[in-house]
Amino acid sequence: MQKETPTKQKEFHSQLNHVEVRPEEKMWALVYQGPGKRRYEQKTKPSLQQSTDVILKMVKTTICGTDLHIMKGDVPEVKPGTILGHEGIGIVETVGDAVSNFKPGDKVLISCITADGHCEYCRRAMYSHCENGGWILGHLIDGTQAEYVRIPFADTSLYPVPIGADDEALAMLSDILPTAYECGVLNGEVKPGDSVAIIGAGPIGLATLLTCQLYSPAQIIVVDLDEYRLGIAKKLGATTILNSKQSDIVEKIRSMTDGKGVDVAIEAVGTPETFDYCQKIIAPGGHIANIGVHGKSVELKLQDLWSKNITITTRLVDTESTPMLLKTVQSGKITPQALITHHFKLSEVMKAYDVFGNAEKEQVLKVIISHDQ
Ligand SMILES: [Zn+2]
Repeated sequence: MQKETPTKQKEFHSQLNHVEVRPEEKMWALVYQGPGKRRYEQKTKPSLQQSTDVILKMVKTTICGTDLHIMKGDVPEVKPGTILGHEGIGIVETVGDAVSNFKPGDKVLISCITADGHCEYCRRAMYSHCENGGWILGHLIDGTQAEYVRIPFADTSLYPVPIGADDEALAMLSDILPTAYECGVLNGEVKPGDSVAIIGAGPIGLATLLTCQLYSPAQIIVVDLDEYRLGIAKKLGATTILNSKQSDIVEKIRSMTDGKGVDVAIEAVGTPETFDYCQKIIAPGGHIANIGVHGKSVELKLQDLWSKNITITTRLVDTESTPMLLKTVQSGKITPQALITHHFKLSEVMKAYDVFGNAEKEQVLKVIISHDQ
């Protein structure tokens, strides 16, 4: 880690103070205005609030399914006036006094999870439950769909972008890849030779498909309602694709696994129906790994599961796997850029939401929003 010399630091902070007293500085951002309402508008450019903060100039960001949930009003703790977005790549513009890992000019990957690095949960690597962080960007504080963003606890919440890395591929590492890998693949304990079923071929289901192949399962069955997404799943390594609109997938999966069911069933949708599929297709000794965000209660069929040595897991992404995933993307073992279907400029972010919100018709998986430099 490079450190500034004391003299340089002094010069820098006197410049910084000078910058901070210019309250008129504005920037463009996508701002939540309450359920169903959003605006692309000018907001005050963020400034350092704590010594552990950095301010980033954004380079690339994206829209998450979670942002659509916020837009529907499903996440009431998001207050009108909040800038959305919790993913992306940026360049460090200013750093607080206590930041030691980053300096102005560094290109960094933003984690969707902010970690103070010292609370009880952080010490247990459960950063998602950090007492001073967790998922706060574009949720409890302003997010990344803007020209600039303030990142708290920068030392433990940002990652350096390797030289020559593909910024767009890396933007998939802020959230969807670690979420799919940690909540689906790691919790599901995918092993070589396993049969795996992934229920849902949205961006998270497809990211699960990419990362589960690190463990060489013998069978990867991907289930969805959408033919376009199933086609992508086939290209990305699914051994079987099943359209649940067209066939009895429970029957089909049983017949494909000698009547036993799958070793790992990964729920990547978040509905009672898709969770129920997992209960019906799991083999004795199997793991049901839930990734989906559930808004309604599901029926737990314990009468069928109690004697089958089943493990059911739930988890929020901790992003502890991000450094490992960065290496696998850099080496080309995982190619998350395959999930990017559409590109927009930040000034087109309103249109980007319209397109992303109409996924089936627009055949969209992940969108990249680039910031004019
Ligand atoms: Zn913490």
